[in-house]
Amino acid sequence: MKVLITGGAGFIGSHLAERHLDRGDEVYIIDDLSTGTIENIRHIKTHPNFTYYIDTVNNYRLTAELVDLCDVIYHLAAAVGVRLIVESPVRTIETNIRGTEIVLELAAKKRKRVLITSTSEVYGKRNQVPFREDDDLVMGPTSKARWSYACSKAIDEFLAIAYWKEKRVPTVIARLFNTVGPRQTGRYGMVIPNFVRQALTGEDITVFGDGSQSRCFTHVSDVVEALIQLAEHPQAVGEVYNIGSSQEVTILELAERIKQLTGSNSRIVFIPYDKAYEQGFEDMLRRVPDLSKIHKLIGYTPKITLDEILLSVIEHQRSKIAKQIGTPAPAAFQI
Ligand code: UDP
Repeated sequence: MKVLITGGAGFIGSHLAERHLDRGDEVYIIDDLSTGTIENIRHIKTHPNFTYYIDTVNNYRLTAELVDLCDVIYHLAAAVGVRLIVESPVRTIETNIRGTEIVLELAAKKRKRVLITSTSEVYGKRNQVPFREDDDLVMGPTSKARWSYACSKAIDEFLAIAYWKEKRVPTVIARLFNTVGPRQTGRYGMVIPNFVRQALTGEDITVFGDGSQSRCFTHVSDVVEALIQLAEHPQAVGEVYNIGSSQEVTILELAERIKQLTGSNSRIVFIPYDKAYEQGFEDMLRRVPDLSKIHKLIGYTPKITLDEILLSVIEHQRSKIAKQIGTPAPAAFQI
């Protein structure tokens, strides 16, 4: 099988590429390295079944050629991370909507199968958990940049479903909840890589708000497995699926656990949202997926626990830090 992964040098895209290569598939990726990095694909760059293009999906001719060549398209290229969204709302909205329009328009020519990755952000300010795929979406005002991400992804979802209904393009939508694992960077605000880096370098661990907000974290390998099965399942077409975990943890508990697992002396400090992001920033208090739909279709249950996730991120960052300073990580930070 030939697969195209847009955003294939990103955190999730690179893991997905690796998994398809392991299965013996031919993998093509296109990535503009806006948030992805060559580092993420360094270990597969020379694989005989791997071809990469450093370019944007807005390069219509290139994307057209790749869509034509491949059997399945995973569209992961997007502006991600709350910090990026708050700081660059134009880029977020335009990247997320234009890229999806192009991919779907091209896929429609030969009715190629497309998996569109969406996000749990689309549930917005909904305060009843767990979130089901057919629940109402509750957005905040357009004056708050955060919601532009949710809305741009909701438009992508509408478009993907419309392409299926009107043009019979086999599309599937995956709403990803907080996904974590090796190679995820804290640069765009993601909490676990941030906390782990802070703990390992002895910096303050920065809990935003009072830390009572909670999330459910899923290891990237569980997510990748689910994406592949959804992309290949005939009954998934035209449908939306949550992918995540139901193991809920507050952000303060997370900070404490990371401090404990790393043996770090870092202080845990509380930063008001206004300072962490922008004036009037709105966070979600809880975000828990209802996983019954995906479980029923493909028997999905995440295998990797929160502690295992944290240990894998700690291990990855320790070796990264050791490489940067050219020596093994200090003994005080050994797990
Ligand atoms: N967060 C935090 N400290 C950080 C980064 C994030 O307390 O250094 C909080 C953030 O406010 C949110 C949660 O951790 O409540 C998860 O943030 P992330 O950006 O990873 O994902 P989100 O769920 O917001 O998309």
